[in-house]
Amino acid sequence: MKKALVLYSGGLDSRLVVRILQEQGFQITALYFALPFGCGGCGFNQKEEIKIKTIDVKKEPLLSEYLKILKKPKFGTGSGINPCKDCKIFMFKKAKEYADKHDIEIIATGEVIGQRPMSQIPSAIKTIDKELDFEILRPLCAKRLKETSFEKKGLVDRNKLLDIRGRGRKKQMALAEKYKIKYPTPGGGCLLCEKESAFRLKYLLNKNLINEKTLPLSMIGRHFYIDNMWFVVARDAKESKIISKFLNRIKDDIGKPAVYFNKKTGHQKALELQNAYSTGDNGDLRRGFEEFKL
Ligand code: SF4
Repeated sequence: MKKALVLYSGGLDSRLVVRILQEQGFQITALYFALPFGCGGCGFNQKEEIKIKTIDVKKEPLLSEYLKILKKPKFGTGSGINPCKDCKIFMFKKAKEYADKHDIEIIATGEVIGQRPMSQIPSAIKTIDKELDFEILRPLCAKRLKETSFEKKGLVDRNKLLDIRGRGRKKQMALAEKYKIKYPTPGGGCLLCEKESAFRLKYLLNKNLINEKTLPLSMIGRHFYIDNMWFVVARDAKESKIISKFLNRIKDDIGKPAVYFNKKTGHQKALELQNAYSTGDNGDLRRGFEEFKL
């Protein structure tokens, strides 16, 4: 049986690709990337009909590889610190390793030309493809792209592939109805795209403070860098709970947030931060920490 590996987010586009290739007689492996800063996909709340293989980029050794890309992306970033082209290249290369190991001929994605400004405009797709020494099949917009060797060889019937472009979802929704595909609403986006977090994440990355253990901290709370120490102050009970798992922390209490500090010597400063960010009229105390905020 012919085999295809579909980069699977759980969203409608990748579900459609699974169905389109199944119709062409492919046995599908769905490959899901759990990315450190989100945008891995929509999640799989419903019962999935296919087997999903997860590649966990939140764990080593992949996390370090990914963080290295974030620090120095070859093809630049979008509005935040999102290196979309490099990120895609990273995922495609990992997918290829998996495909080779499992004798899978085709790697396919649910990408649609013109759907995303940084990685799916024609020039971006060209840049990405040039960086790979293998081909990617994009069934939803294949007719708008150069014919791949898979199509030329007759492994895939080009006539049954699509020519969707742009951000509209009408065609995909009509197809979902035709194929009776249920799909979840899109999940949270990619934190790397958010302008507000860009400075903080870049700062933490450059100081090598993000690792497998501290990754959850980088996405929550108020951040401070004082005397070569990193502090995270929780903003609510959920964040306090995350901080409570760390050894260097001041516990939360009624009206008092938990505070993380990355060096033992930060204990006193962490107490001061907790005091400043406790409920009450602490404007003056908080102003004293403004210059250290990330
Ligand atoms: S938005 Fe860009 S950087 Fe973020 S996960 Fe998607 S491709 Fe990667």
